Amino acid sequence: DRMTPRLESVEERDSIWPRQNSLSLKEWDIPYDDLNLGTMIGKGRFGTVYRGNWHGDVAVKILKEDFLDDEHAIEAFKLEVAIFKNTRHENLVLFMGACMKPPRLAIVTSMCKGNTLYTHVHLRRDKFNLNKTTLIAQQISQGMGYLHRRGIVHKDLKSKNIFLENEKVIITDFGLFSVTKLVYDSNLGLGIPYGWLCYMAPELIRNLKPYRPTNEDLQFTKASDTYAFGTIWYELLCGEFPFKSQPPESVIWQVGRGMKQSLSNLQASRDVKDILMMCWTFNADDRPDFNKLFTTLERLPKKRLARSPSHPIQLSRSAES
Ligand code: ATP
Repeated sequence: DRMTPRLESVEERDSIWPRQNSLSLKEWDIPYDDLNLGTMIGKGRFGTVYRGNWHGDVAVKILKEDFLDDEHAIEAFKLEVAIFKNTRHENLVLFMGACMKPPRLAIVTSMCKGNTLYTHVHLRRDKFNLNKTTLIAQQISQGMGYLHRRGIVHKDLKSKNIFLENEKVIITDFGLFSVTKLVYDSNLGLGIPYGWLCYMAPELIRNLKPYRPTNEDLQFTKASDTYAFGTIWYELLCGEFPFKSQPPESVIWQVGRGMKQSLSNLQASRDVKDILMMCWTFNADDRPDFNKLFTTLERLPKKRLARSPSHPIQLSRSAES
């Protein structure tokens, strides 16, 4: 049925729509000179993000030049753009276009307002109550469930890549080159960015190689995204990273052997802790998908907010629903 192809994987999709993909990519090309670049927002591993103006406020991520070293990298970039342009969900950052002419490769998205969950939790040390934490986690699950349904693995799900705009969650940085280029130095070996390891599932950790680039060995999957989600759930609940202040070698050894961060200091109900344990399950096939996570979160008992007894109708209504 050509009208409703099953969108299982990028490879499958491209074999169905090879011509359409390259044609429709052109529609999303933004000439670099059309962008009005403003101040720099920040630098990441793969590029630099600027404020920009292109028919309104936008964020422009300009990829580092070392991505331009070969034809293969540019093709890979175009493939990422082809995937990105097909995402439409209220919890995902809005893709607006891309500069696809080397030497300037850039991705243009809507500008996220508010702070990342990382800033809320680790820098501002904001505490969210369980109701709010659950609402945030549910929105992440919905955005991620949508991505997975479209055959897209995030590969770099972390609190730094999730914005909170008022009460709304916006996930960024999905499917981009992400962790496919780890910091690797031929003298120093593998460099592990701070706060990255605790999102890595055991099967990924076990494939890290100290003395050669590991890019091809890291097989990110939907299940490894679920593991990373577990870590975000932990950050939201505890206000810190799992395995906090332990050296990378120790985290690698423990996680690789199936050990998990102890939850003995976490004051939370069984159901709340069970979500962590499900997401961090050693065997990837046994981790829940995001639809399952969404319904599990939905079933968590909600703390009733104090209601005024003078509104009995409202009370009985909510009891019915
Ligand atoms: P890493 O490269 O390790 O993922 P990072 O997430 O900090 O680190 P980038 O994704 O390159 O790196 O982001 C750089 C900065 O730009 C961060 O402060 C990030 O919060 C900000 N940023 C990224 N995308 C947007 C956006 N759409 N709107 C607003 N700010 C953004």
